[in-house]
Amino acid sequence: MTERQLTRLSADEMARGLAAKEFTSVEVTQASLDRIASVDGDIHAFLHVDPEGALATAADVDDRRSNGEQLAHLAGVPIAVKDVLATKGMVTTCGSKILDGWIPPYDATVTAKIKAAGLPILGKTNMDEFAMGSSTEHSAYGPTRNPWDRTRIPGGSGGGSAAAVAAFEAPLAIGTDTGGSIRQPGALTGTVGVKPTYGGVSRYGLVAMASSLDQAGPVTRTVLDAALLHVLMGGHDPMDSTSIPAAVPGVVAAARRADVKGLRIGVVTELGGEGFQPGVRARFDEAVELLTGAGAEVVEVSIPSLEHALAAYYLILPSEASSNLAKFDAMRYGVRVAPAGVDDPSAEQVMASSRDAGFGDEVKRRIILGTYALSSGYYDAYYGSAQKVRTLLARDFAAAFEGVDVLVSPTSPTTAYPLGDKLDDPLAMYLGDVATIPANLVGIPGLSLPVGLADEDGLPVGLQFLAPQQADDRLYNAAAALERLLEDKWGAPMIARAPELEAAR
Ligand code: GLN
Repeated sequence: MTERQLTRLSADEMARGLAAKEFTSVEVTQASLDRIASVDGDIHAFLHVDPEGALATAADVDDRRSNGEQLAHLAGVPIAVKDVLATKGMVTTCGSKILDGWIPPYDATVTAKIKAAGLPILGKTNMDEFAMGSSTEHSAYGPTRNPWDRTRIPGGSGGGSAAAVAAFEAPLAIGTDTGGSIRQPGALTGTVGVKPTYGGVSRYGLVAMASSLDQAGPVTRTVLDAALLHVLMGGHDPMDSTSIPAAVPGVVAAARRADVKGLRIGVVTELGGEGFQPGVRARFDEAVELLTGAGAEVVEVSIPSLEHALAAYYLILPSEASSNLAKFDAMRYGVRVAPAGVDDPSAEQVMASSRDAGFGDEVKRRIILGTYALSSGYYDAYYGSAQKVRTLLARDFAAAFEGVDVLVSPTSPTTAYPLGDKLDDPLAMYLGDVATIPANLVGIPGLSLPVGLADEDGLPVGLQFLAPQQADDRLYNAAAALERLLEDKWGAPMIARAPELEAAR
């Protein structure tokens, strides 16, 4: 097989080919590395590539396979990891200057699990600094470009992981989602992104932004691949006190079942009206029609408290972030920058100058906002009120799920916008998270599936499925069914329409 053929395989196809000894892990890993070498100069999905490490893992898996060892299904399939997850011995920056060159002495649980299963780690992917942003433009190391149109953003904060998968640089990637950072880049790059139920995947070794919202999950090109990776990453971890002491729901079986006959689907009234691009709305409506045609019962569901979700999120998140990021003080963690022109500076002065030099504008903005919201005079008015909205939302979602099995909405109100478009207007960027953040506030799982290209700009549109806590399998069942219906309609997966990057160079 050629490099092109190998890099276009889904992870499941690759796993089967490896098991059947049609090719080796060294061959597929080298094909990914070659692809990265040829396109990543333009895309900038990776902050760090590790050819030696990836090839060593691949060779080891190949040896073990030829010795007849029983291996994990995805053993030998290369993967990219968002730079917010600790990788022992491999640089981890969180897209920030303050962690420039930091080499973790330990693995995140998720990293340890993929290593134990024998997945070669290609490298670390670009992200908005500390996962704050929706465009990957807040990375201290420069933005990632959308493979569908390199003048546009790939979404964020996990734009690197999504772009790597969309550009066929990696068949699999890991992302993290605090308010949409897996699902929104998935929608904008035509890839599948899943935020599992809160507590379904360990947060140990995931550098925290907002601990009550953060969750790692799969970034892939097919629903089945996401399910396979989800099972591998997830499950109980005693190292994370918020980890659910239960097995991952049967997501792989659900992705294979792919049957929506009799499934009750609720279209969320509040997520799809004003502010949603016509092309996004059109592809969404068509997808819902396909589901109806396949026997799903579709109804409209109103969740009134959604009106306040965005405001609550942008108080709770900065509050938690301001506290989590206090550790980057140049004493315990982070680069140390001495204040200019001060002889014999105090510890406080060194902390201040280090944080000033090490953090970017968006991070500073959120630290200031969070510190203010938590301050004694304003705590009740801001943080306290936001927490009440969170409770209200949880109640409203629970009520909605009494009548339907899954909820659907467009993942993002718009397709990918031009680089620089919203960089100087934080509120405009925040508004793009309106459909994704509710799942994080409520702890429920969400999946974004590509459902076509918008007529006005030819760019990918995503549809989001939401399910109750620990019913992640429902997402996979419904999304795999829709994926199949769309593929039948188009005669090929949507990702096959992604531009050939070499040709455009
Ligand atoms: N875009 C959202 C934010 O800026 C979500 C980020 C995320 O999920 N990490 O907070």
